[in-house]
Amino acid sequence: MYKDFNPSLRTIMTPGPVEVEPRVLRAMAAPILGQFDPEFTHIMNETMEMIRRVFQTKNKWAFPVDGTSRAGIEAVLCSIIEPGDRVLVPIYGRFGYLLTEIAERYGAEVINIETEWGQVFEPSAVIKEIQRTKPKIVAMVHGETSTGCMQPLQEIGEACREFDVIFVVDAVASIGGTEVKVDEWKIDAAIGGTQKCLSIPSGMAPITFNSRVESILLQRKKIEKGLADPHMPQYGQTRVIRSNYFDLSQLMDYWSPTRLNHHTEATSMLYALREGLRIVLEEGLENRFSRHRLHERALIQGILAMGLELYGNHAYKLPVVTCICVPEGVDGESVRSMLLHDFDIEIASSFGPLKGKIWRIGTMGYSCRKKNVLHVLGALEGVLIRHGVKVHPGQAVQAALDVYQNKEHTAIYPQGFL
Ligand SMILES: *Cc1c(COP(=O)(O)O)cnc(C)c1O
Repeated sequence: MYKDFNPSLRTIMTPGPVEVEPRVLRAMAAPILGQFDPEFTHIMNETMEMIRRVFQTKNKWAFPVDGTSRAGIEAVLCSIIEPGDRVLVPIYGRFGYLLTEIAERYGAEVINIETEWGQVFEPSAVIKEIQRTKPKIVAMVHGETSTGCMQPLQEIGEACREFDVIFVVDAVASIGGTEVKVDEWKIDAAIGGTQKCLSIPSGMAPITFNSRVESILLQRKKIEKGLADPHMPQYGQTRVIRSNYFDLSQLMDYWSPTRLNHHTEATSMLYALREGLRIVLEEGLENRFSRHRLHERALIQGILAMGLELYGNHAYKLPVVTCICVPEGVDGESVRSMLLHDFDIEIASSFGPLKGKIWRIGTMGYSCRKKNVLHVLGALEGVLIRHGVKVHPGQAVQAALDVYQNKEHTAIYPQGFL
């Protein structure tokens, strides 16, 4: 027979999935409601309202796409890209490649510019490229989890608006952990993730888009008139939007008073999203962001006091992911494995050119708390000593405690921090 189902209770300090808020787990155990039950449609409406508040937008359209975060990215891109459309994707880490790949699959002519990993773009460099290539869409990552960097977006957003370019932003890693100002930054469509700073399981992607995107969708819908009833697909004809599941124009009919059935909403995930967003708004966006900054600071001070080096351009650090250089001659994977097996702590490695070179520690959502930061610092020190690394013993936890006790700490840290 199979054993009892009993997953370990880990301390998860990765850039996702992170520990889930206990209240969210409880919400997921609630009984199922039918999808047209007024109680359920009320939950749908409340969730839309909460998504708007978290994205800091007045957009009419704000709802979750079922599937992991990339489902939200794919829904946005496949619904607005027509084959041959020019899409500019500036890449500064792994997730820029994901945007590129999805756009290419839907027939876009993708133009990439790349910057060194660990850096972000000068907004002027992106704007110059917009002027040169005149794309229909610019798609960019806000918080690049693979490198721990965060791209400033406002200037790029303003330029996109000026040149009538649609600005799509992957805010999967940043939403709920640091500012994402959709309206102020002139973002036309933004995609968030649940399993990162919202501390909800993976499986939904909250998105929002404005009337500029809506008008593209409605235009494409007009073209396909004649097969307007989604219950009666007419065989032999091709829909303009090539995905059924990700067709935002159909999802709009579902997430509006029309309530035209599309898919069956993922009931328990919606409960989770509603409860997770409620927690975010209860804490307050400002409080939540400063909590993330506090624990980031404690973690950074601890890491530096131990004698380790941080990776990436500090001036553009993503506050919810801290990247650490693996010291010369140390097997990074062996360190991670010992953290997991002896301390029940999970930290992450990275991808591509950074594989084996850095560790990434997430301080996201419910995982972002004092107990976890102190635990990971103490454990990492112990494991590194075990691996023969000359750290400054005892310093890391003390440095973090100094931050928590609001004391000046004298560790040498790079400019740009604190
Ligand atoms: C995690 C992440 C994704 C992908 O999310 P999935 O839920 O794995 O589909 C996309 N973009 C960024 C920036 C991420 O951090």
